[in-house]
Amino acid sequence: MIKDNIQQNISLKKFNSWKVGGVAECYVEISTEESLITLLKNEIQLPITILGLGSNTLIRDGGVKGTVINLSKGLKAIDHDHEYIYCESGVSCSTLARFSAKDNKKNCAFLAGIPGSVGGALAMNAGCYGNEIWDFVQKVKIIKFNGLVEIRSKEEFDIGYRSVNKGNDEIFIAAWFNFPLKQDNDEDESNNIKNLLNKRKTSQPINWPTAGSTFRNPENHYAARLIEEVGLKGFIIGGARISEKHANFIENMGNATAQDIEDLIKLAQNKVRDIKRIELHTEIKIIGDKIG
Ligand SMILES: Cc1cc2nc3c(=O)[nH]c(=O)nc-3n(C[C@H](O)[C@H](O)[C@H](O)COP(=O)(O)OP(=O)(O)OC[C@H]3O[C@@H](n4cnc5c(N)ncnc54)[C@H](O)[C@@H]3O)c2cc1C
Repeated sequence: MIKDNIQQNISLKKFNSWKVGGVAECYVEISTEESLITLLKNEIQLPITILGLGSNTLIRDGGVKGTVINLSKGLKAIDHDHEYIYCESGVSCSTLARFSAKDNKKNCAFLAGIPGSVGGALAMNAGCYGNEIWDFVQKVKIIKFNGLVEIRSKEEFDIGYRSVNKGNDEIFIAAWFNFPLKQDNDEDESNNIKNLLNKRKTSQPINWPTAGSTFRNPENHYAARLIEEVGLKGFIIGGARISEKHANFIENMGNATAQDIEDLIKLAQNKVRDIKRIELHTEIKIIGDKIG
């Protein structure tokens, strides 16, 4: 695919980790900040949908109207900027973790286990094992849908569990990260990355496409445990299954539709509400139209 060229009717299946979904009416992969500015300043088919690596997104089978802008194929700059690491949104979280570890930083290993882009991680305030990406943000570069670029400090945002209050017409282009410097008696951060990835392999399903945790953990509860307790572990609808290994993961066993996955989501929400009187809210983002 030629970068920065708008294409019509492009299947989005290969651009999300569940490997499901319909076509984008218009689709474009961005190479650089300049090309994103040019794209937004010209007329494009609305609405605009932003996609990173699609590892937290369920794309419905009827596809997505307007223009899907994929930021994970370009915007790959990562470098030092004084004491910070400047990293563009298309860089993977794993690359940011490894770059920072090599740079003698600590507390960055957790990012290696998150299979998303830095832009997606900023939008989701992604995290694991007690750390979240915004813990280490000093400032961000944002572009609005009208093409105007702004630098904003972390203090200008309300940051919460898997959430940050950016405007709906705002895209993260890059961020400056302030991971602390490793001290002599600290563990080697590259070793921490290895250990963390091994830990993930044993605790999470890795044989089938998933989007990680489907639901947010309700306060004082674990979504996985609630789903297990209402008897849905291993439950199958069509080609989708609630994982036997980790009940907050939904697996595409090869031929799942987005509708199969959405039906499992609804089923889990209904059963947990009926039996436990607890509301499960999705962590994943659902975009596009249903068929029919
Ligand atoms: C196996 C597996 C394990 C996972 N483990 C974790 C985990 O431990 N912790 C965790 O937090 N998540 C986890 N996830 C979920 C996912 O990887 C993260 O949420 C990740 O940060 C999403 O990044 P992405 O690029 O894939 O985002 P996408 O799915 O492409 O997008 C997610 C949302 O962010 C928006 N977005 C994307 N890029 C930008 C941008 N540049 N500017 C503005 N908005 C943007 C999209 O519009 C969408 O609303 C896991 C997923 C999988 C498949």
